[in-house]
Amino acid sequence: MKKPFKKPEAGDKVEIVIDNRTEKGILLESHDSGILLLKLENGYNIGLRKEDVKEIKLIENKKSEKKEEKEFALNHKKPVIDFIITGGTISSKLDPSTGGVKDLTNPKEFFSVYPEIFEIADVRIQSPFMKWSENMDSNDWIKISKIVEKSLNDENVKGIIISHGTDTLHYTASALSFMFGKLNKPVVLTYSQRSSDRGSADSRLNLICSAYAALSDIAEVVLVGHANMNDEYCYALRGTKVRKMHSSRRDAFRPINCKPIAKIFPDGKIEVISDYNKKIKSNFKIKADAVFDNKIGLIKFYPGQNPDILDYYLKNKYKGLIIEFAGIGQVANHGKNNWIPKLKEIIEKGMLVYAVPQTLYGRLDPYVYESARRILETGVVYLGDILPETAFTKLGWVLGHKEWRGSVATKTKMLENISNEFNKRLGREFLD
Ligand code: ASP
Repeated sequence: MKKPFKKPEAGDKVEIVIDNRTEKGILLESHDSGILLLKLENGYNIGLRKEDVKEIKLIENKKSEKKEEKEFALNHKKPVIDFIITGGTISSKLDPSTGGVKDLTNPKEFFSVYPEIFEIADVRIQSPFMKWSENMDSNDWIKISKIVEKSLNDENVKGIIISHGTDTLHYTASALSFMFGKLNKPVVLTYSQRSSDRGSADSRLNLICSAYAALSDIAEVVLVGHANMNDEYCYALRGTKVRKMHSSRRDAFRPINCKPIAKIFPDGKIEVISDYNKKIKSNFKIKADAVFDNKIGLIKFYPGQNPDILDYYLKNKYKGLIIEFAGIGQVANHGKNNWIPKLKEIIEKGMLVYAVPQTLYGRLDPYVYESARRILETGVVYLGDILPETAFTKLGWVLGHKEWRGSVATKTKMLENISNEFNKRLGREFLD
């Protein structure tokens, strides 16, 4: 008997013929009865007027979630990885009925979308919150660190993976690097730039490589993700020297002023590139030094900027500022927008001011130009080759400690190389 014709419905993969072209994608629920909504392979949604549509061909029926859901059970034979889900594109999936994305926090659902990592390890999933990373703040970094602390002290756990949105991932990576000093096992942060249902999704490779990183002896906070635009291998990048450098590419995260720690291949092979802190068998308890003072700012100098912007921070009782200086260490130093008198004034009134490189690559050097020497005399502290976001999380963390407050104590800590945030051996080879 012939199967009855089923009219395509939301969630089905279809091909739509309109005039002289065809569009392929997933049919979405439309709230306008005259419009067909389609999610294209590239992730964009388009609306097509029903009256222009000549034909709708069904390519594939909507995948039933139940069918996809494999058995989820820890087999207690594989090494254990604790997996902390915090939100972002990596933990979202297309909701065919709305065309939007929905969260993936449930272990079963996560298993159905990313079965591969459950083959590598026994993965225990938890999710303290689900946020796009632009909505996170220092309280979230503290919350994550407390969960990580528990896993670090659980002798059954080999390593930890944290999945996170990309936009502010490098802030979390550096904040955790400071909150944990010396580690006893890997803490791996990972992400994806495209959601799991897209043909070009990058999450699979990132997750598989993250699992191998979590089982490795790299006892550091590292960010693991695509090393290039292909699906060949990932880099493990140091938490204090990594930055999102592209809005959409899969290899958005780059090491700045240093080399990657390692290449991680999806078959588990690890090729070490730089020295790192090795896993140790320890009996000592790891404690998260989870403090943060939010009364700090991060600003960027630009030509023609009136230095009176600094009054705002003083008036509102900010304790410290990270300022992105131009070039090798400059702000306007003569003329009507001369910053030198204002810097001197706010520093004398107790503001702590740190200069970081706007260029990101290379280091600041106040001894090259006479003008920078005059800026230095105001009391601004130059922070070499540190990344602006790393300097920001470091200052908040340092000021979170009562004993390190005051200009001398804070300066000493800010100049100390606590978590490899400075590269003392910076040479041309790190600038590629
Ligand atoms: N805006 C998103 C976030 O950072 C982008 C992503 O998930 O990667 O959470």
